[in-house]
Amino acid sequence: MIFAKKTLGQNFLQDKNIAQKIVSLSNPQKTDFFIEIGPGQGALTQFLLEKTDKLLTIEIDSRLVPELQNKFQTFQNFELQNIDFLEFDFTTLPQRVRIIGNLPYNITSQIIFKCFENRSKVSDLTIMVQREVADRLSASYGSKTYGILSVILSVYGNVKKLFNVPPAVFFPKPKVDSAVVSITFAENFELEFQQLFLKVVKSAFGQRRKMLSNSLSEFTKGFSSEILGNFANLRPEQLRPEDFVEIAKRILKSGKV
Ligand code: SAM
Repeated sequence: MIFAKKTLGQNFLQDKNIAQKIVSLSNPQKTDFFIEIGPGQGALTQFLLEKTDKLLTIEIDSRLVPELQNKFQTFQNFELQNIDFLEFDFTTLPQRVRIIGNLPYNITSQIIFKCFENRSKVSDLTIMVQREVADRLSASYGSKTYGILSVILSVYGNVKKLFNVPPAVFFPKPKVDSAVVSITFAENFELEFQQLFLKVVKSAFGQRRKMLSNSLSEFTKGFSSEILGNFANLRPEQLRPEDFVEIAKRILKSGKV
């Protein structure tokens, strides 16, 4: 028996029905290439191996490796890398992959950003996250939880909350509620625009209480009214995702970057 490490977000799912439901809602096809983040003790892994031809599991905790290898070594389609997912190199992949996992909650945003930045190699994610984060990911403008990820994912993808999960189905029990979400990335990769767009959104929300004329001054450089127009006196949560796209386009056109 391995003691769970809080620092690695280890709350192991005990309920087989929920594990099966997560895998089934990800709609796995035989030809898909899945990456499972943090297989832990293999709650989702078994069901995935039965449904798909290729599964790469990435687990940071070397204490879990012998148990995982032991359980799944007979499956030809099982592969395990004992590394930090945040260090994983997507450029080595031969095809676009699908991501699944009951995530370590302390690095959820970093995982989503990494997948987003590599979305030429990642088509979608089916992930368990903290319920509050699930709400934030799909928040619309005007709401308190609307933030960087809600804007970015709404422009470059599609987020769907699938179902809520109570603490009681894990061991040890987390202190928070959980939810399973699906994120699908759109297939557009205009990198120059994306980089600027990300900087603009991050700057605006990085100074959430300031008006855009202040928080985006580094991009508008004396042309605030031409570039920001009616948005100048607003705060970031008052803008729709498409408004940020419009601002980034105007900045690009003005040649100020
Ligand atoms: N999938 C298992 C389950 O459903 O029971 C475990 C889920 S547990 C919430 C998160 C898992 O992610 C743990 O096994 C933990 O060791 C692993 N993990 C934490 N940080 C990681 C990282 N940076 N890269 C890969 N795995 C990580």
